[in-house]
Amino acid sequence: MKNYRLGILASGLALIFFVSSCVNFGKQKTVTREPAAPGESRIQYQVPAPAKLNLVTLGEALLAWRGLYGKMDKITDGVYLARGFALANVAMIVTKDGLVIIDATESVDAAKEILDQFKKISNQPVKYLIYTHGHGDHTQGSPAFNSPGLQVIAPKAFLDFVKFETVLTGPYTRLARKTQSGQAAPEYLRMQVPIKNPLRAEVGTSEMLMPTITFEGHYQFELGGEKFELFQAPGETPDAIFIWMPEKRVLFCGDNYYKSFPNLSSPMLGPRPVAGWIGSLEKMIALKPAFLVPGHSAEIIGEQEILETLTNYHDAVKSVYDQTLACINQGKNVEQAVAEVKLPEKFAQYDYLHQYYGRVDWCVRGIYQGTIGWYDRTGTHLIPNSFSYSARELVRLAGGADKILSRAIELQKAGEDQLSVELCEVVIQANPDDKTAHLIKAVSLERLAANATSINQFGFYSSAAQLEFQAAE
Ligand SMILES: [Zn+2]
Repeated sequence: MKNYRLGILASGLALIFFVSSCVNFGKQKTVTREPAAPGESRIQYQVPAPAKLNLVTLGEALLAWRGLYGKMDKITDGVYLARGFALANVAMIVTKDGLVIIDATESVDAAKEILDQFKKISNQPVKYLIYTHGHGDHTQGSPAFNSPGLQVIAPKAFLDFVKFETVLTGPYTRLARKTQSGQAAPEYLRMQVPIKNPLRAEVGTSEMLMPTITFEGHYQFELGGEKFELFQAPGETPDAIFIWMPEKRVLFCGDNYYKSFPNLSSPMLGPRPVAGWIGSLEKMIALKPAFLVPGHSAEIIGEQEILETLTNYHDAVKSVYDQTLACINQGKNVEQAVAEVKLPEKFAQYDYLHQYYGRVDWCVRGIYQGTIGWYDRTGTHLIPNSFSYSARELVRLAGGADKILSRAIELQKAGEDQLSVELCEVVIQANPDDKTAHLIKAVSLERLAANATSINQFGFYSSAAQLEFQAAE
């Protein structure tokens, strides 16, 4: 069955790839940049054909972390998981006195679709809705599950966290989510993503059901003869919990485990409790679950496989954390740490530690940000000039922006897109109105997006490319 599905998926991806390679998404054109200052020469920039998505890497990441199509998995008797309908999974537990739902996706429409599927299995009313944490992709679809007498459970920390993300930093958090998900991506890049709706609804677009029961530490209840134990377990967020069904030995772990090296730090958001995350994984391992049901990606079944997976996951996170702390204590700056900290080679064989979603280099930066201050001892960065002031001096030294942009074009042709972007940035900082600089930068960013190996990398680069294309107009 698995091979059959993989076959369908492989042919689907091959078809999308074939179609995308046949469609000319934009016309090739040449842009002329006239001299902007004395001593500059005219530049002719032949804009290359738009980048094609590398579906081998991005398709693999999407399949692993999110699933490409909606499907319903039976975990064990009375326990079901809907995944691939939206960004996050939804679990349903059937008891003889009603249903317990865990998480709600980011979209009311997706949650309604899921509930329709659940109703084919059991027509019982929903009695409890439990949030594994306060992120919008797990809570926003909640109105779809509302029913008379519904109890909604979350820890007290959920209220503070949701207030922080939706009120105190609400506009910024929405911007960050939109950027990360690539919703601002150029349209033809989005068209090539092999799922219809990468994100079914924007964060902050619906009124989630707020908790009617809150707790600190631990909470338990029984419904229709089934026992549920809820434990606070900081990790993905400070308000994260896991849910344990001791008799069925099912563990619902939210986002403290999913099939990817975890996003220990989200590039645009505040630091995450990495030490707490390590401790939460230890508690999860100690329960010896027979079924592990994550907030994203597929379930794992079998005590031995879960033990091995969670132990490797824990050891990998701890290794990155310990290596980063060692760099901090050796007085190394964040760039040195990014270059040095590596996921140990022995973990490369496990696909659940591939960097489909989180990236080790981003985690190192996040751990620095969450652990120490910003000053790096160089003196240079203590009271620095604005980048634009320094950039104007660099442009003068180079003999004009045309020299820097000509080199950026050469580098782009040679496949050095990051260096090309960095040179364009110097010109843009010196003169934000240089449209050619914005255009060259946009093209390189789009290529970096097309070759992304992680879902978030695709989102950030393609959103940045879109901003630069707009600035180039
Ligand atoms: Zn999530």
